[in-house]
Amino acid sequence: MHISVVLFTADLRLHDHPPLRAALDAADAVVPLFVLDPAIEESGFAAPNRRAFLHDCLADLDASLRERGGRLVVRRGATVDQVCRVVTEADACEVHVSAGHSAFAMHREERLRTALERSGRRLFVHEAVTVAVPPGTITPAACDHFTVFTPYHRHWEGTPLRAVVAAPGRVRVPDEVGGEEIPPLTGTGVSPALPPGGEGSARAQAAAYWRDGLDAYDDTRDDLGADATSRFSAPLHFGTLSPVELVQRARRHGGAGARSFVRQLAWRDFHRQVLAARPSSAHTELRTRHDHWRTERDARADIDAWREGRTGYPVVDAAMRQLREEGWMHNRARLLTASFLTKTLYIDWRVGAAHFLHWLVDGDLANNQLNWQWMAGTGTDTRPHRVLNPVTQGKKYDPSGVYVHRWVPELRGVAAPRVHEPWRLPGLDRAVLAYPEPVVDLAEGLERFRRARGKRP
Ligand code: FAD
Repeated sequence: MHISVVLFTADLRLHDHPPLRAALDAADAVVPLFVLDPAIEESGFAAPNRRAFLHDCLADLDASLRERGGRLVVRRGATVDQVCRVVTEADACEVHVSAGHSAFAMHREERLRTALERSGRRLFVHEAVTVAVPPGTITPAACDHFTVFTPYHRHWEGTPLRAVVAAPGRVRVPDEVGGEEIPPLTGTGVSPALPPGGEGSARAQAAAYWRDGLDAYDDTRDDLGADATSRFSAPLHFGTLSPVELVQRARRHGGAGARSFVRQLAWRDFHRQVLAARPSSAHTELRTRHDHWRTERDARADIDAWREGRTGYPVVDAAMRQLREEGWMHNRARLLTASFLTKTLYIDWRVGAAHFLHWLVDGDLANNQLNWQWMAGTGTDTRPHRVLNPVTQGKKYDPSGVYVHRWVPELRGVAAPRVHEPWRLPGLDRAVLAYPEPVVDLAEGLERFRRARGKRP
C-alpha cells in the first residue's frame, strides 16, 4: 500500500489544500499530521490567545477529517524527528507540506528534506498555500524581492493564481499510526472576547462577509467605530482560510470594495516576500535611521502606560484596551498606536512588536514585525519620518467617538470631538473623569523625534 504523510502547519483546513490533494492523489492512504513542537513554545511564540485559537483549529480539523473517514494525528516533539517517526511507522513514501517563509520554517523544511532523503523518501513543498503569490514569483530586475509596495502590487495584480482545490470527499488514514490528544484548553491569560478558531467558523464568517461586508469595505475600512473590516487575519494566520480562494472569490464579486480588500491581501504577500528574502528583518532594522531608541530601561513608565491603555490619549488607550480584551485591534488603531509608541514616545519598535505578538490572535512574524518597521520608518515606508497625531487621527477616524466610548468607559459622558482631547475640558469636569493626563506633550514628542532623525522641527 502506498502511504503519504501531510504535515499541517499554518494551513489548518481541508478546502483548497494542495498538499493534501497531492498526497491523496499519490497514495492509497494518508497520515494527516500536526506536530506540537516545543521549539515554538520555547520561543515564546505560542502565546495564550494563539494557543487557544490553535486548539479550536485542531479540534475542527480533526472533526472534519473524521466526517470523511479519517482523523488528525497529533504528535509532540521536534518536528523533523516526529515526521520521520511517523514516516517509519506508516512506511510512507513521501511527505507533503506547505512552504513557510520565516527563518524557522525554511530551516525546518531543509532539515526535513535532508532527513527524509537519507532514508530514501521525498519531501514535496507546495507553494501558494499560505500566500496567494509566493515569495520569489515576482521580483524586480536588480533584487531578489520588492522593497516598495506600489510596484510590487502592480506585478502582483498581473500574476495568474493557481486554481482553487476542492475539499476531499474521503480521507483514509492507516490504523497503525497513533497520536496524542489535542492539548486541552487552559484558558489562562486568554483575552475574554477571543473569537473561536477553526475552518468551520472561518468559512461561515467569510460567507457572511461576502454577503454583508465586502461592498462597503473601501468606504468603511478606516472607520474605527464601524468595525467593518473582515477580521480574516487570524483565520489567515492559522490557514483556516485560503488566501488564493479569498482573492479569487473577491475578484469574482467585483466592485471597489472587493478591489480594496484584495489590495490588503497583496500587502500580506508583500511582507512575506520581504521576510523570506531578509529573515533577519523579524528582529533587525531593514533600513537603520541610526535611532537611539528609548527602551524598557529608560522609559518604563511610558511603556507601561502604553501597554495598559492609560496614556491620556483616548484613541490610543481605546486601541490598547481592545487588544487585551479581544486579542485583536483594528488596522487604523494598529497604525496610530505604533506611531505613538515609536515616534511620539520614541520607544524601540521591538518593544511594541513584542507586546502585540503576545496579545494578537493573528500575531504573525511577517505582518507584525514588518508593519512595525513600516511605522517606525525603518522598513519599507517611503515616508519614514511621518508621524500620526492621535488627536487628529481620533477626530478623523472616530468622528462620533463611538470607538473611544466603547473601550474607555471613563469618557462615555464626553461627546465628540472633545472626547479626543479631554485635557481641554474645564478643570472641574476633568477632575470627575478619573482619566489620566497625557503622558507626553505632542509637540515635545514631535520635536524629540525630529531632532533624533536630524529633521528641523
Ligand atoms: P482587513 O482590513 O479585512 O484586511 C484583509 C486581510 O488583508 C487581513 O486579514 C490581512 O491578512 C491583510 N492585511 C490587511 N492589512 C494589512 C497590512 N497592513 N499588512 C499586511 N496584511 C494586511 N496583521 C496580521 O495578520 N498579523 C499581525 O501580527 C499584524 N500586526 C500588525 C502590526 C502593526 C503595527 C500594523 C500597523 C499592522 C499589523 N497587521 C497585522 C496588519 C493589519 O493591521 C491586520 O492584518 C488587520 O488589521 C486585520 O484585520 P482584518 O482581518 O479585519 O483586515
